[in-house]
Amino acid sequence: MATKRTAKEILTAYNGPKLRIMEVCGTHTHEIFRQGVRKLLPENIELISGPGCPVCVTPVGFIDEAIYLALEKNVTVCTFGDLVRVPGTQSSLAGARAQGAKVQVVYSPLDAVTYAKEHPEQQVVFLSVGFETTTPASCLAVEQAKEQGLENFSLLTANKTMPSAYHALKDSVDVYLYPGHVNAITGTALVESLVEEGISGVVTGFTAKELMTALAVAVVKAQEGKPFFVNCYPRVVTHEGSPEAQKLVTRFMEPCDTEWRGLGVIPQSGMRLREEFSAFDARKKFDIPPITGRANPACRCGEVLQGKCKSTDCPLFGTVCTPLHPVGACMVSNEGACSAYYQYGM
Ligand code: SF4
Repeated sequence: MATKRTAKEILTAYNGPKLRIMEVCGTHTHEIFRQGVRKLLPENIELISGPGCPVCVTPVGFIDEAIYLALEKNVTVCTFGDLVRVPGTQSSLAGARAQGAKVQVVYSPLDAVTYAKEHPEQQVVFLSVGFETTTPASCLAVEQAKEQGLENFSLLTANKTMPSAYHALKDSVDVYLYPGHVNAITGTALVESLVEEGISGVVTGFTAKELMTALAVAVVKAQEGKPFFVNCYPRVVTHEGSPEAQKLVTRFMEPCDTEWRGLGVIPQSGMRLREEFSAFDARKKFDIPPITGRANPACRCGEVLQGKCKSTDCPLFGTVCTPLHPVGACMVSNEGACSAYYQYGM
């Protein structure tokens, strides 16, 4: 009779070839550090931080567009707090605020709709970033603004979809830890189908037990020598996902090419408002000119997001670049890899 082994026993006993496991999601990166999971792993299991932090993958040019709206078009920019400190080419939104820009921190897109309703004299733009988990809320905000007849609310979109990143990074990764909250919306059909392209992955939740289980499953399945998919988070993630959220997004948005920090433009990996909702599209409404952002050349966020280097390989890490004085987005966001290394890895 086969003896049962704990996840920890499976992981610590692994002595096969180097296995590169990418925790795609920034929350996974932080939880893996916080729970001390890395310390339990043998050297031949390498955890790579991936591009699943929405603030981190948002390109510099997007911050520049937001600053352009705030300073040149006198728009009130509503945003999640993290984005305020992300450096643009010349300045961050915090810097723009010091120059008189109106920048309002909100906790959801619907808060921005409420703000627009309460301030009819202001044009309000919500910075819509994130993946499949946050995109439905932006669509809901447009729906509400439309229903309420608000003409002073719009979105500056940089929404992204995860599967394109899985393709883009597949050569640097043996197994993906798929983000459970994204798959709760999308379902698993898409990532299951990636197996046919040789891409392996495990969906996981966020507790230490869930992460350890998923890592152990990844190690056991990888040793079988063929591509695989396992849903280790079935209490939340189903094959179908959330049809309501999917319908909402399909009604308001359509795929488009979009730029990812570090990964460049990935075709059809973004979401933008459909033509019929262009009154809520800030780029069209305010006729934003093409803006190409330039990141600080010393910052290695792009390579960190591709798993090509660790945060600690960056010469600015922990010296010039700290959470108080971030040089790149990965040090700003609570989900950023550099921030995780700084908080837990030093
Ligand atoms: S430590 Fe700072 S400068 Fe270096 S890659 Fe990370 S965010 Fe960029």
